[in-house]
Amino acid sequence: MRAVVLEQPGQPTRVEDLALDGPGPGEVLVRIAASGVCHSDLHVRDAEWERPGPIVLGHEGAGFVEAVGPGVASPRVGDLVALSWYYPCLRCANCQAGRQWLCSDTRALEHRLPDGGTRLSRADGSAVMSYLAIGTFAERTVVAADAAIPMPAGVAPEVAALIGCAVTTGVGAVLKTAQVDAGASVAVIGLGGVGLSVVMGAVLAGAGRIVAVDRVAEKLERARDLGATDLVLATDPEPTLAAIRAATNGGFGARASFEAFPFVDGSRRILGSNYGFAVAATDFPRYAELHLAGRLPVDRLIDARIGLDDVEDAFDRMRRGEGLRRVIVL
Ligand SMILES: [Zn+2]
Ligand SMILES: [Zn+2]
Repeated sequence: MRAVVLEQPGQPTRVEDLALDGPGPGEVLVRIAASGVCHSDLHVRDAEWERPGPIVLGHEGAGFVEAVGPGVASPRVGDLVALSWYYPCLRCANCQAGRQWLCSDTRALEHRLPDGGTRLSRADGSAVMSYLAIGTFAERTVVAADAAIPMPAGVAPEVAALIGCAVTTGVGAVLKTAQVDAGASVAVIGLGGVGLSVVMGAVLAGAGRIVAVDRVAEKLERARDLGATDLVLATDPEPTLAAIRAATNGGFGARASFEAFPFVDGSRRILGSNYGFAVAATDFPRYAELHLAGRLPVDRLIDARIGLDDVEDAFDRMRRGEGLRRVIVL
C-alpha cells in the first residue's frame, strides 16, 4: 500500500510501501479515490505545526468502503464516503449538545483511532501514524466509522474529497458560524480552498457585496467567477501585505488588531470557526446535494489532478501562492 510519509516535520515527504491492518470494531477500510492537498498539510510538512513522525499526511479525502469492522452499521461496503478529520466521540457534553466540532474526547487530534491505535506499519513492524486519524495521501486507510460519511449518488470522488475539509470549513463558516444574512457585506481575506469556499457560501447566503482579497491576481479572477463582487489585490502598501500574510499564512500565534470604537458602535462580533461548525453526518450530504443542484460549484476549486509522487511539488506551488486546489486522484 503506497502512502506519502513525513518522517520528521521540516523534512521532505517520501512515498513508501506500508502495511495496513484490516478494520477493527467500529472501523472501516477505505480505498482512497481522491485527496486534496490542503494548507494544513503544508503547515505540518514545514514544521509550523508540530506533529509526531512518521505520519501519513492528508486530511481531505474520499474513497470507497472496501471492508467494515464488527458492529459497523454505516457506511456499507461499496459506499463512496467523504472523510471527516474530526471524528466525534458522540458521548461528551459537546457531542450530546450537537456541537461535534467541539468534541472534547475525540482522539483525532492525536492521530489515533478511538481505541488509541494506528493500523499502519512499516515492514520492520514499527508503527506509522495517520494524520488526524484519516491519513488520506495513501492508497488505502482505516478510519473510525463515524469519520466516513456516505455521499449521495452522482457525487464525484474529488468533489467529495473537498467537502471533507475546504468546503465544509468555508461554507460552514458563512452559513453556520456567521449566519450571514441576505444582502449582507462579506470580506474574504485569502482565497485558497477555504477562502473560495467562503465566497461560494456567501453567494448561497445571498450576500450583497462579496469583497475578495488576495495577493495573487489569478485567485481574484476565480473568486469573481464564483460570485465575488469586489476584488482587492493586496500588494500595496507593504504593511497591508504584511498584515494579510500574517492573517492568512501565519498559522497559530497570528494576531490581528481592530479599532475599538467602530467595533462597539457597529455592534460587530468576532467569531472563531473550527471546521465550519461541522456536524459531518448531516453537513457533508447537505453540501453534496447543493453541489448536485448546481448551487455549490466545488469542482471549480480544482486546477490540477496529480499523483502521490507529486505532493512535494504541490507543496512548493502552495508556498509560492500559485494555483488553486491540487487533488491527488488514484
Ligand atoms: Zn484542510
Ligand atoms: Zn465528543
